Amino acid sequence: MIIKNDPEQFQNYLSDASNYKGNADSIYFPESEDEIVDLLKKFNKENIRVTVSGNGTGLTGGRVPEGGIIISLEKLNRILELDIEKKFVIAQPAVVLKDLQDFVEEQNLFYPPDPTERNCFIGATVATNASGAKTFKYGATRNYVFGLRIILSDGEKIEIERGQYFANENEANIRTESGKVIPLEIPNYKMPKTKNAAGYYCKENMDLVDLFIGSEGTLGIISEIKLKLIDLPKKVLSCVAFFPQEENALSFIDEARELKQNNSSFSKARALDFFDANALKLLRNDYPNIPILSQAAVWFEEDSDTDNADIIENWISLLNKFNCNEDSVWFAFDKIEREKFHEFRHAISLMVNEFIFQHNFKKVGTDVSVPVTHFRSFYYWMKETVDKENIDYVVYGHFGDCNPHLNMLPKNEQEYLKSKQIYVNICKEAVRLNGTISAEHGIGKMKRDYLITMYGEDNILQMAKLKLFFDPNKILNVGNIFDEKYLSSAYDS
Ligand SMILES: Cc1cc2nc3c(=O)[nH]c(=O)nc-3n(C[C@H](O)[C@H](O)[C@H](O)COP(=O)(O)OP(=O)(O)OC[C@H]3O[C@@H](n4cnc5c(N)ncnc54)[C@H](O)[C@@H]3O)c2cc1C
Repeated sequence: MIIKNDPEQFQNYLSDASNYKGNADSIYFPESEDEIVDLLKKFNKENIRVTVSGNGTGLTGGRVPEGGIIISLEKLNRILELDIEKKFVIAQPAVVLKDLQDFVEEQNLFYPPDPTERNCFIGATVATNASGAKTFKYGATRNYVFGLRIILSDGEKIEIERGQYFANENEANIRTESGKVIPLEIPNYKMPKTKNAAGYYCKENMDLVDLFIGSEGTLGIISEIKLKLIDLPKKVLSCVAFFPQEENALSFIDEARELKQNNSSFSKARALDFFDANALKLLRNDYPNIPILSQAAVWFEEDSDTDNADIIENWISLLNKFNCNEDSVWFAFDKIEREKFHEFRHAISLMVNEFIFQHNFKKVGTDVSVPVTHFRSFYYWMKETVDKENIDYVVYGHFGDCNPHLNMLPKNEQEYLKSKQIYVNICKEAVRLNGTISAEHGIGKMKRDYLITMYGEDNILQMAKLKLFFDPNKILNVGNIFDEKYLSSAYDS
């Protein structure tokens, strides 16, 4: 196993795509599950903190260590089994999402979760319950996890399949491979009904596999993943449509969302993503063909097993209804063209991250979601709030799922501090409207204070208590989801 003890040699593991920065003494690169077990046994005994690293594309500082050592899983990168008949794939945690998707597509199978950034590791997408544009039709990573192998902080192993272990109301037991039984108390807070990736997934009588999905490495290290696949759709229509007014684009999205929700035979989008005028202005640097007068754009996709002709006609009539001229629509009919639209969507996220790195700030981008009934007014309120403070920003995101990424672009320290305050207010408003502070990126270390706004300290203490059942010595991914101070007081609550 490679071990590096000089932080100069592993600087790039001390941050992630959010530009959150940390420190660690050493980094370890285990090459098997047994080596992870040995490392955890050793560090648990010595009470040394362990932070798990995926591929560092996270946006919340989750893989960023705050002392101790790093375990990078990058050597565990093999696809172990593909069952075409039963439609599942088993993979080690560091298989790159794009490689897994391409591999199963060769067999006419489809793995839908797609967090835009496809260089992420599959294990990390489970640890963060990642989602993205296609979540609108297909749901988040959680919906595709059949089973997991997990190494706990003391080196004990758990193999868990969906449907195997359930909680009895809020109590549960889970058995490790060596026969040790771990009793659990499941927190009893109510999760928002919106798309949500904030804090542990907890429900009465829940399937215990769901506890680990989205637990951000705080309960154990995921060492193997069994994922559900579906049939590859035969046809996919992908479009980027440009609108003369923002109102038109938002109304188009509202109607397309409704059509899908009502299971209409007219149009059923699998993705509905939005770009505001500021995002288009930034994108024009690399995409001069963006129509000059457009004030907003929507990237949408629909897949089907039938011919595209009817589908295209339906979409064109919907676009026309909202003043979008079909001459200002980009259509893609094959995979190569479709990939270009994916790159177009990805480009805006990368541009924002580049700006943040250049100015040496941490990302100040929302990942909120609110119920659809509040979405339009919430969106206008959010923009007005930032406009009033004269901060540059762009908005894009998964508007089908009411999940806007408003990214502020502060140019100096004063604007950065203002942006952070606006960010707090946006989170508070989303919570007030029964939404979430994080629909898909998770909490990591950057958003843990806002999780208190969402759930309150009593529920954070319940989360801390749950972690302690799995990690009594408090060594694993400490600081993700909640501040470590809650681990000291969890048993008093
Ligand atoms: C441009 C851009 C766009 C993005 N768009 C989206 C989006 O649309 N939707 C979305 O959901 N995300 C998005 N992301 C965020 C990111 O891609 C996801 O969070 C992804 O799941 C992180 O994968 P990673 O391998 O880079 O993990 P890392 O950043 O290395 O780690 C993420 C977290 O998972 C933990 N972890 C990693 N592996 C394991 C394991 N095997 N066991 C236990 N814990 C583990 C880490 O400790 C950390 O807490 C985007 C990122 C970028 C840069």
